[in-house]
Amino acid sequence: MKLSQGYWQTYKEIPNDAEIPSHQLMIRAGLINKTGGGLYTYLPLGLRSIRKVEQIVREELDKIGCFEITMGVVTPGELWKETGRWDVMGQLMLRFQDRAGRDLCISPTNEETVTDLFRKTVKSYKQLPVTLYQINTKFRDEIRPRFGLMRGREFTMKDAYSFHENKDCLDKTYTEIYNAYCAIFTRLGLEYIAVEADGGAMAGGQAKTHEFQVVAEAGEDTLIYCAESRYAANVEKAEAKRSVLNKTSAQDLKLVDTPNKSTIEDVCNLLGKPQEESLKALVYVAVTDQKEEIILAFVHGDDLLNEVKLQNYLRANHLTIGTEKHLTEAKLVKGFIGPKDLKQKVRVIIDSSVNLEASYVVGANQVDKHYQGFVVTRDADKGFETADIRMSKSGDLCPKSGKPVVVKKGIEVGHVFQLGDKYTKAMNVTVLNKEGKGVTPIMGCYGIGTTRTVAAAIEQHYDKDGIIWPVAIAPYHVYFGMIGKADETFALANEIYKELNAAGIETILDDRGQGPGVMFKDADLLGLPLRLVLGERDYKEGNMLEVKVRKTGESHKIHRSELVTKLKSLLESLK
Ligand code: ATP
Ligand code: MG
Repeated sequence: MKLSQGYWQTYKEIPNDAEIPSHQLMIRAGLINKTGGGLYTYLPLGLRSIRKVEQIVREELDKIGCFEITMGVVTPGELWKETGRWDVMGQLMLRFQDRAGRDLCISPTNEETVTDLFRKTVKSYKQLPVTLYQINTKFRDEIRPRFGLMRGREFTMKDAYSFHENKDCLDKTYTEIYNAYCAIFTRLGLEYIAVEADGGAMAGGQAKTHEFQVVAEAGEDTLIYCAESRYAANVEKAEAKRSVLNKTSAQDLKLVDTPNKSTIEDVCNLLGKPQEESLKALVYVAVTDQKEEIILAFVHGDDLLNEVKLQNYLRANHLTIGTEKHLTEAKLVKGFIGPKDLKQKVRVIIDSSVNLEASYVVGANQVDKHYQGFVVTRDADKGFETADIRMSKSGDLCPKSGKPVVVKKGIEVGHVFQLGDKYTKAMNVTVLNKEGKGVTPIMGCYGIGTTRTVAAAIEQHYDKDGIIWPVAIAPYHVYFGMIGKADETFALANEIYKELNAAGIETILDDRGQGPGVMFKDADLLGLPLRLVLGERDYKEGNMLEVKVRKTGESHKIHRSELVTKLKSLLESLK
């Protein structure tokens, strides 16, 4: 691309709504343009990067025998009604009707479509396993679209779906795709970790699932990581253990006055107890198959409750925080709730890290009163349950190595998930097995947010001047500018530009006739791996050009005759 003829513009101003570096830089470097909330136009240079990500994804999936298809962006509502997700998806799914009044939606994901395709086209075990994928537009009416391509409403996803006769076969494909993802993110030049993720509550336990997370400040996900064992898990799922245990012995139960002290911090300060020797109460409402149930959960005073774990434990469809209305309904005294002398039967769940024989401070279910020396086994109302419902945190002990874990922020770029027979069962899919008997196949699904991946790559690779593209997904490799206005310089630059592109070095020629100041600023902002400059004076002195490596700032003089080989080896060294 020659900039004099190119459709490219950079911007000095940071857009008001752009909070994180990748969003700011993608707008400023002229890669994307906002159309509306969570809606973007991919401009020529941005699109080139997106296409490169897609191509790498495609190559690695094709290599392991997946088949690319394209399903419609619009899906008939009736398929979603078959699986019940027409109701479950809620407002995330954009729905509308056609002229005949038939329900349609813009696909937020495509399990239903692919399962329908499968049941119409695959009849025998001989056609299994099969993995189909597409790289296609998705729409999710996210509550908070933000961060540019990171959390858009319309975005591009590679979604793959595999079908199997049995679990062993699913496990094998799952591992192959997991490994392909590792190859993809390595080729993209990203630092990533594959973390154990929450698979929700499925029959017989949790579904096997991993997220591929790009470690970056701006990440919306919290990860628990152990450098020693390489254990990594999304905090929603992490099972790291408390490092501080309550080892007190059982003391006598004592009712104490705690006037107006309704927070754990205030109560513990007043009583001179550390927070880990107290229990804090949280009230939730769990909705399970039309039934609403009030849940009273207890965790250590210095812990947070993990709602995902609680929801899975309860096998609830939804979990919401209890309101004043629910507190009144269950006769709970706000600020002083405890597991003893409850005035009405509610379901009580105590975190499994609580030492049931030790002494704790707990609410006494009376206004302005707490208990001290409370021992769960001795004093709690009968019928409580224990479960792991706490949120892991920094300093917890790794379930593998026993060493302290750290917390990192991550951007989820990919997700692999074993679905089991959730969709095939709901949609009555069967295939004939060896014995000629109809069996329900099982499925896996595998996503990569290709547009989000580009944003994540920038989030990991930038500095104060702009983007620093990994070579594999840079829109171009070389930003080539000239200093000097002589006709022969211009002609020579054009000649070199052609030569580089012909040699497979993707080059932009800045022939806009701008001064070096503007040119260098734009080059840094766009952040192609190499910047090449043809300076009239240098060239006259010995046919030399100057190349600067965006990532390191180092620069080299290169003789015209060696340009292609030297640039190629520099690019190679940056991979
Ligand atoms: P998140 O928790 O970030 O909302 P998700 O669990 O809903 O993600 P999946 O349904 O597993 O995501 O989708 C697969 C991939 O699609 C994700 O790993 C992510 O890379 C991408 N993705 C999901 N939502 C968005 C979005 N709103 N904008 C851009 N990419 C997205
Ligand atoms: Mg989501």
